[in-house]
Amino acid sequence: MLGLAAEYKAALVERPGERLTTLHGRAVVNLFFENSTRTRTSFEFAAKRLGADVVNFDVATSSIAKGETLVDTAETIEALGADFIVMRHPASGACQYLMRHVTASLINAGDGAHEHPTQALLDALTVQEALGKIEGARISILGDALHSRVARSAIWALTKLGAKVTLAGPSTLVPIEFASMNVRVVHEFDEAVRDADVIYLLRVQTERQASNFLPSLSEYRALFGMDAERLAMTKPGALIMHPGPVNRGVEVTREVMDSPRSRILGQVTNGVAVRMAVLTLLDRTRQKSGVRR
Ligand code: ASP
Repeated sequence: MLGLAAEYKAALVERPGERLTTLHGRAVVNLFFENSTRTRTSFEFAAKRLGADVVNFDVATSSIAKGETLVDTAETIEALGADFIVMRHPASGACQYLMRHVTASLINAGDGAHEHPTQALLDALTVQEALGKIEGARISILGDALHSRVARSAIWALTKLGAKVTLAGPSTLVPIEFASMNVRVVHEFDEAVRDADVIYLLRVQTERQASNFLPSLSEYRALFGMDAERLAMTKPGALIMHPGPVNRGVEVTREVMDSPRSRILGQVTNGVAVRMAVLTLLDRTRQKSGVRR
């Protein structure tokens, strides 16, 4: 998977305008019930580069606004000719639920606070590219893990690939229960970043915080925000990652985002390569199982 993504990444850099025919004749529908800049656009770029037709389904102006159910909507999209449905939904488990109702390949582009698998894959590719390997890498994930599908998927993928993952943040946002995911849980910034090869800053997910998990964003910034001064205290060469969108000046300052240590825009580019690999591999599976129309 990461090997194919790395090949696609090299091609994206070397031959930016290239169009492949891998998914010629296939239709990809982006079905996003939550906002997205990077994920939706990169799925669109990925699918188009592979030669697929792409439709961005507009939830706000669709019959969902008239009360059509998720299953009815997905079945309709499939009847219209979708081979792949890329879905983002606010409910955890929405993709798993829908899987039982459609034969189109369903790709989870983020479900509630649960999972964001293609984000984890692009993060893994970014670490591998920068460090040469993931196994043994010390990766510290900082911030609002509680509400973060990015954190859950990253922990799952990176520990499976042999990284040593530390999770850090205020105890309200990083409860000790995360230790059961094979990570070290700490609540001090300095302790979290001291030996880290990669410092992964999570967005404070204000839209998912029903009650007060933090006294204020400025308090968060004071305790866990990454600025130039703090960056200077980290291990030389330690990388900075963030899934975006950034609350600028809260999790990370503009200066740090622009520093050579930042891989934040590199993550975005890798998102296209990884999503191309996901679509390609899924299409191969579909062909083998005879699902392809
Ligand atoms: N864009 C990522 C997501 O949709 C990260 C974030 O929003 O914090 O989960």
